[in-house]
Amino acid sequence: MPEVKKISDGIFEVIKDKRQLATKNLDPGKTVYGEKLITVEGVEYRTWDPRRSKLGAMVLKKFDIPLKEDSKVLYLGAASGTTVSHVSDIVSEGAVYAVEFAPRSMRDLIGLASRRKNIHPIMADAGKPDSYSHLVEPVDLIFQDVAQPNQAEIAARNAVCFLKKDGYLLLSIKARSIDTAAKPKEIFKAEVKKLEQAFEPRFEVLNAKDLMPYHEDHLGVLAKLR
Ligand code: SAM
Repeated sequence: MPEVKKISDGIFEVIKDKRQLATKNLDPGKTVYGEKLITVEGVEYRTWDPRRSKLGAMVLKKFDIPLKEDSKVLYLGAASGTTVSHVSDIVSEGAVYAVEFAPRSMRDLIGLASRRKNIHPIMADAGKPDSYSHLVEPVDLIFQDVAQPNQAEIAARNAVCFLKKDGYLLLSIKARSIDTAAKPKEIFKAEVKKLEQAFEPRFEVLNAKDLMPYHEDHLGVLAKLR
């Protein structure tokens, strides 16, 4: 019989031959991206591949993930919904506002949202939060994975519009989207400084770690409003 250990609210480790990150499947019997379904004592879990998800990698790199079953999340850079689907599992009584600007990915996301009522897909540019402010309520967490050169600025703009005073930001920073020549460590240092000082609102960075071995040249950041 597989064993299940809770890592944090809604996030588990299922041990069956090997240890696998997992969430409880909000849409039983269905997979989203070819992940495994494992049932333990009547509960179906979906395995969560940290190599396909920065958030999954952050869990394994021991970030505190500030999510509860009723959390409201703004997810910037939703793509086809691989990670959004796990966030949807975790915040089963909450909501995920999933922003994406690529039409092909949006089609997949709309399909996913038709089966999961807590996902609200929004086709928009994450750098222009005013364009979707009428669609999003104040949120407990902004998760951002947009791979853009102005990642810190996008996070700040969205935080002004949507982040609750005691809310958190979880950010994946891709070094190569910012500068292809500079050393990733230097880029990361500069980006953390930008989050702390360059824009309003300013953030207090609580944790920052590279996401190796799951994602090369990516920094995971957990921050809250100063
Ligand atoms: N977070 C996704 C996951 O784990 O399943 C993967 C995200 S992928 C690295 C980055 C995504 O951000 C792409 O789908 C891209 O189209 C989207 N993106 C980049 N810039 C954006 C912007 N300004 N507004 C909305 N989406 C953006």
